Amino acid sequence: MASTKYVYFFGEGHAEGRADMKNLLGGKGANLAEMVNLGIPVPPGFTITTEMCTEYYKNKAKYPPELKPQVEKAVARVEKIMGMGFGDPQNPLLFSVRSGARSSMPGMMETVLNVGLTTKTIPGLIAQTKKPRFVYDAYRRLIMMYSDVVMEKAAGIEPEEGRGVRQQLEHEMDRVKEAKRYKSDTDLTTEDLMDLCEAFKAKIKEVLGKEFPDDPWEQLWGGVGAVFQSWNGRRAISYRRIEGIPDAWGTAVNVQTMVFGNMGNDSATGVAFTRNPATGEKIFFGEWLANAQGEDVVAGTRTPNPINKIGKTEDTAHLKSLEEAMAEAYLQLDKIQQALEKHYRDMQDIEFTIQQKRLWMLQTRVGKRNGPAAVKMAVDMCRERLITKAEAVGRVKPSQLDELLHPMVDPNAEKMAGSLAKGLPAGPGGATGQVVFTADDAESQAKAGRKVILVRNETSPEDVHGMHAAQAILTAKGGMTSHAALVARGWGKCCIVGCGALDINARQKEMRVAGRVLKEGDWITLNGTKGRLYEGQLALVEPDLAHNDDYRALMKWADEIRRLGIRTNADRPQDAAQARAFGAEGIGLTRTEHMFFDPQRIRAMREMIVAETVEARRAAVMKLLPFQRADFSGILEAMQGLPVTIRLLDPPLHEFVNLNEQQTRELASDLGITYEKLDARIKALHELNPMLGHRGCRLGIAYPEITEMQARAIFEATAELTQRGVKVLPEVMIPVVGIVAEYVNQEQIVRRVAADVMKETGVKFKYLVGTMIEIPRACIVADKIAERAEFFSFGTNDLTQTGFGFSRDDIGGFLPYYIEHKILPEDPFQSVDQEGVGQLIQMGVERGRKARPDLKIGICGEHGGDPASIEFCHRVGLNYVSCSPFRVPIARLAAAHAMLKETAEKAAAAKAAAKKAATTRKARATAKKAVKTRTAREAAKKAAKTRAAKKAAKPAAKAKKAPARKPARKVAKRGRK
Ligand code: ADP
Ligand code: MG
Ligand code: MG
Repeated sequence: MASTKYVYFFGEGHAEGRADMKNLLGGKGANLAEMVNLGIPVPPGFTITTEMCTEYYKNKAKYPPELKPQVEKAVARVEKIMGMGFGDPQNPLLFSVRSGARSSMPGMMETVLNVGLTTKTIPGLIAQTKKPRFVYDAYRRLIMMYSDVVMEKAAGIEPEEGRGVRQQLEHEMDRVKEAKRYKSDTDLTTEDLMDLCEAFKAKIKEVLGKEFPDDPWEQLWGGVGAVFQSWNGRRAISYRRIEGIPDAWGTAVNVQTMVFGNMGNDSATGVAFTRNPATGEKIFFGEWLANAQGEDVVAGTRTPNPINKIGKTEDTAHLKSLEEAMAEAYLQLDKIQQALEKHYRDMQDIEFTIQQKRLWMLQTRVGKRNGPAAVKMAVDMCRERLITKAEAVGRVKPSQLDELLHPMVDPNAEKMAGSLAKGLPAGPGGATGQVVFTADDAESQAKAGRKVILVRNETSPEDVHGMHAAQAILTAKGGMTSHAALVARGWGKCCIVGCGALDINARQKEMRVAGRVLKEGDWITLNGTKGRLYEGQLALVEPDLAHNDDYRALMKWADEIRRLGIRTNADRPQDAAQARAFGAEGIGLTRTEHMFFDPQRIRAMREMIVAETVEARRAAVMKLLPFQRADFSGILEAMQGLPVTIRLLDPPLHEFVNLNEQQTRELASDLGITYEKLDARIKALHELNPMLGHRGCRLGIAYPEITEMQARAIFEATAELTQRGVKVLPEVMIPVVGIVAEYVNQEQIVRRVAADVMKETGVKFKYLVGTMIEIPRACIVADKIAERAEFFSFGTNDLTQTGFGFSRDDIGGFLPYYIEHKILPEDPFQSVDQEGVGQLIQMGVERGRKARPDLKIGICGEHGGDPASIEFCHRVGLNYVSCSPFRVPIARLAAAHAMLKETAEKAAAAKAAAKKAATTRKARATAKKAVKTRTAREAAKKAAKTRAAKKAAKPAAKAKKAPARKPARKVAKRGRK
């Protein structure tokens, strides 16, 4: 068997690798190979595969025997191209040893430059270049990097903070610079550097107890091992956890001929982007440094210059651009960057080095970008016909779109200001305001025209008015599902929660943080996208979506692609209008309970609750009718004929009589009954577990007057609007149904009232009656419910609660532990638990549609705005998702992504099926041929043999068939839905 190929060569116009071999060669190696194949100047070298990394770990840091000869052969090939020798004292070749995993892990792994410089090769390089200073500069860099990366980190030595060997060497260098009053590294003379290198080596011996290796091959293998070792370095591991990169991928190693940007003032190095990654503008954007090696630009040891004239800012206007300093190399670079972007069809992040006026490319990869830039680039590239509309839509992540919807802290202002503390980024965007410590203060001061930020240890429903009045919310406690976070997200409000560094004294109206004392009225700024807190008033940049043509174009394309409808959850006309502006196609959930908590109304509600006779109850509840009619009228009118799902009263009754003694006495005298009587009634309403108590349709069943009144309010509003020529489409939703009879009971009331109102007003109107599916039992009997219900809306908050048997208000005690210990992969209240609750939903959909094929099915609740949950809803064939107004654009984009994914999967399945068909044909042909070529002498055995041949061919074809057929079948099934 041929030995495994572990080494892939690249250089002189030909590479063994390609861009699509990232899994094997890592991103860096695959793209270096691709650039070579494109004829772009890249220093020659080779890539050791990620498979080798896996081997290395499997065999306890030992290499298989075939690696060494493969590496030596590749080195020899580079030597031939370069006309130099690795370790050759006359004309030494130097290498860089670079890490490179499948997806880039910036700064997480290691690189060593100038490998191959030894006491024997130094004189040769000096003779070749006539630049002793450059040679010793390269040598001191090698010593610094190598001792750090190979001799310390890869050896598993963990020095105390600040006592790493590299820091100690840097100290030495700083001492020399200080003593000689040098400003920059470039001021160091040849003699200084020679002395430094000797001092470095002595220091290394002292700190690590080992000699710095003076043999080129020892250096090379040391570097290779260190790169593999760095895959399991602490930094790399924690980065993989955050980014969800599997440990099994491994890293490749790239060994590449060194080119030198530090050979004098006709040499340089730089980093650039084919477009501005912060704004998306189509402007070649980058930074460079003369007489420097690669790492200097990123490390920030020297301030880099802008790459071209157009990229200059006020602060950098005086600095010379590469365009001005080295016009020829710049022109060549500009051509290459254009070619790369065209070839990869995306913005590239590139590294280059100029050695004595000659340009070399060292890296290219798809560049990271922020939200606004992502949108602009995607749309621009589509208009430039570089990518299709579908690709443009696919390029923008929902989270990037989120960045666009909120005012942001000006990134420049943020760079200047030091952050006071960090918390969880619960509500994206930026906000500035004056600190207040209570909800009442927030409200009153906001009314007085002040911009305030509400700071609390945590928030509760009592704080909602203050939260609404505030520009932003900051809490010391709580997580991403805390009350504050939830409320803020719903309103698209900037919010940071769990900012543990805050020491809040609400009574004194002050807080301590990072050694500062902030009092009521002091200005602070929050970056809710990053969770950062600043003192003072930082500048904000407002989004202007109505005039953002790129955003609008992208959303239009997304709408053309998606199959899923997008609705919103809105309780007030202004929210409904906002959501429509964001592109909502209806309301998926209007909750009516907050309408009862208004002081004027709650009295009538309480009167109803304590009423003793049906007549008294009806009289009390009917007092609410005009208010409710006005509420519904406003919302229905705002939606202009789009469907509006109105949920009947849902919360437990006792929430309406949550009173202390004093309040109870007042209410008793107000209602003209004794305190004792009222108190007894309230006590009777008390529930141990209100979430599973007297709520939802159970209310309307016990108190049909409530349902009657609400239905009447809805239909009178509908009739009145219809008469006025306003188009309306109400959908009445009955909550918390688990039993068919519950549904039927409530439905009858609703339909009777509808008929009454039509008769009374003489106006005919359309409406639907349906139910919220939020109890597992409802999913099971969904077929029976659907015989009557015209629509389903999955209430996934309650379905998750009841499906898991978790009370959402009590998960704080165990859910963080569950997630930390991987008992659950994530918070099921944020993203639908597809494995369990998802099956309930699927069952509800299948059974519901079996009884009523045109059943309209949607989802409301927090999950409706979560991209992963949206993809799930698309897959199981829902008609729409409904989410808070500020999530509507994100949901539109996520729904388009779900469709794109489905299309891609279908295409892949079709391709696999075609391939399978081809293989089967081939196998059959081979079997036939085998039969035909049989000689006459074998004719006697023919029958038996044919059977054998067929048998042999068939199972093989079958085995190949099975996996290819499955996805095809799945897709077909999905397609039918
Ligand atoms: P990272 O992935 O952290 O950017 P790299 O492997 O790209 O690490 O290398 C670090 C720096 O060294 C970069 O600036 C790169 O351009 C530079 N560099 C790497 N290899 C060479 C080389 N062969 N010649 C000159 N500079 C190099
Ligand atoms: Mg790099
Ligand atoms: Mg519910």
